Amino acid sequence: MSESTIFKKIIDREIPAAIVYEDDLCLAFEDINPVAPTHLLVIPKKEIASVDDVDEADEALMGHLFAVIRKIAAERGISGGYRVVTNCGPDAGQEVMHLHFHMLAGREFTWPPG
Ligand code: AMP
Repeated sequence: MSESTIFKKIIDREIPAAIVYEDDLCLAFEDINPVAPTHLLVIPKKEIASVDDVDEADEALMGHLFAVIRKIAAERGISGGYRVVTNCGPDAGQEVMHLHFHMLAGREFTWPPG
């Protein structure tokens, strides 16, 4: 069996994280190395490595993750906009092979990304 990722260990409470939201399907916590005043990671509890590994059975789960992101933004009163990013694979710089959405807010972001 492959070794579990750091995010699976956070889900299983084997390592600590600053968790800001949890339900049966997902978890949101503070990124340990924030690049914006708000930098959360929203992850499914289901072990999905990346967008490349999402299949039809996960459609409702993906919608749920975005609904949670929207809810967190509303609860925090984020009014100026925010960015949601997922890195998929090595060229995109994915470091942790457990699907995660970066939720970034609190400053202006440039485009295109680096
Ligand atoms: P990515 O490059 O898209 O795979 O992003 C992985 C993110 O996970 C990075 O922004 C890291 O700062 C973050 N990260 C890694 N380990 C932890 C941890 N133990 N707790 C919170 N965030 C983490």
